[in-house]
Amino acid sequence: MIFEASRPKALNQLNKFVDNNLGEYSKLRNFDFGPEKRTNISCLSPYITHGIITEQEVILKALSKFSFSKNEKFIQEVLWRIYWKGWLELRPNVWADYLVELNQIRNDFQNNQNYLNAIEGKTNIDCFNEWVKELKENNYLHNHTRMWFASIWIFTLELPWQLGAEFFMKHLYDGDAASNTLGWRWVAGVQTQGKHYLATEWNIKKFTNNRFKNIKLNENATPKVSGKSYQIIKQDFNNPQKIENRNLLIFENNLSFEITDFKENNFKKIYLISNKNENRAIKLSEKLVKFKSHLIEDQEKRLKNKSIDCQIIDISELTNIENYYSLYPNVGENLDFLNSSNLKIDFLYRNLDQLAWQYCNKGFFNFKNYIPKIISSFN
Ligand SMILES: Cc1cc2nc3c(=O)[nH]c(=O)nc-3n(C[C@H](O)[C@H](O)[C@H](O)COP(=O)(O)OP(=O)(O)OC[C@H]3O[C@@H](n4cnc5c(N)ncnc54)[C@H](O)[C@@H]3O)c2cc1C
Repeated sequence: MIFEASRPKALNQLNKFVDNNLGEYSKLRNFDFGPEKRTNISCLSPYITHGIITEQEVILKALSKFSFSKNEKFIQEVLWRIYWKGWLELRPNVWADYLVELNQIRNDFQNNQNYLNAIEGKTNIDCFNEWVKELKENNYLHNHTRMWFASIWIFTLELPWQLGAEFFMKHLYDGDAASNTLGWRWVAGVQTQGKHYLATEWNIKKFTNNRFKNIKLNENATPKVSGKSYQIIKQDFNNPQKIENRNLLIFENNLSFEITDFKENNFKKIYLISNKNENRAIKLSEKLVKFKSHLIEDQEKRLKNKSIDCQIIDISELTNIENYYSLYPNVGENLDFLNSSNLKIDFLYRNLDQLAWQYCNKGFFNFKNYIPKIISSFN
């Protein structure tokens, strides 16, 4: 599996998937046939996470092929990531607390042999070891495999979910503060309190097409318990009434300015912000840093082709720039940097997020009711 870092490649992947495989998505999506056979799922997440293509673009393309009802499952999945994002935006302390806990646990586990065996893929669970290798080599895992992986990590290897979430963020090309942190919390049983996800040998065997057998797992573990609960922090995600001709900052989550809601606005200059490991709480693998750099360079190239004045700068150089807006970077490492540097910024929010995040106060079941309304706003 190769993820090439460019918008044309992302569009090609989208078109290929919609034309050939979308029709069977809801029937086949849960199967992990192995890294060489990924046509049953879209493999678009590394691109969507970085804003190379947008959720709206993906959904509209799917709807150009099939009706809403035939597409319902796929559309729900695409909107899950917006739901997780909105959920975290309304409860940003979940991310802040996660990083604090991670820092403590990291120290406690730095010499823990169980942990070291897990991240080296040297456990006595063959499928798990294979997935560690796959994660490091391909920087991607199938959704069902992420669920099994996290469940084995937490309930059979008995390691803290926080370290597993860090391991994913280090390597996943689609690594995303919301989907990843909340995905791990959900498997552990602290997201929906008292409800955890337990991987079973039967399920792994079936959905890997018998590629793995004789897997000894703890299939009776109880959910993890968290003493913390999080209240919603009410926030306005409002844009300025009038967008002035200032500079614009773009972070790694919005790397296709030409398809954003702000493409018609005039900005003096666009700064593409690169955040290497010096300013991250979770250090990324070398391959992931390179992937992000290539995506940023691809955006720079597309902007320059349109004669838009732009420049790539490191996040540490932000203090040298004045008078700007920023496309909102979402709860995560980049926003943390801005907050810790006390930079006062006027954010620009995507219309889709402004609309959808107001429905993220409850569970996904409730959010689903608003999907037709969200989609009707695309036209
Ligand atoms: C423990 C755990 C950690 C995860 N970490 C991440 C992460 O860091 N970044 C990330 O983008 N996704 C994460 N996911 C969600 C999901 O596994 C991936 O989005 C999906 O596997 C991407 O593959 P795809 O593009 O082929 O998905 P498809 O099945 O083709 O789905 C299409 C799109 O829908 C979205 N999507 C699908 N399933 C989910 C889901 N369960 N949650 C949120 N969005 C979804 C993605 O944007 C995806 O590209 C995680 C899931 C779990 C269980």
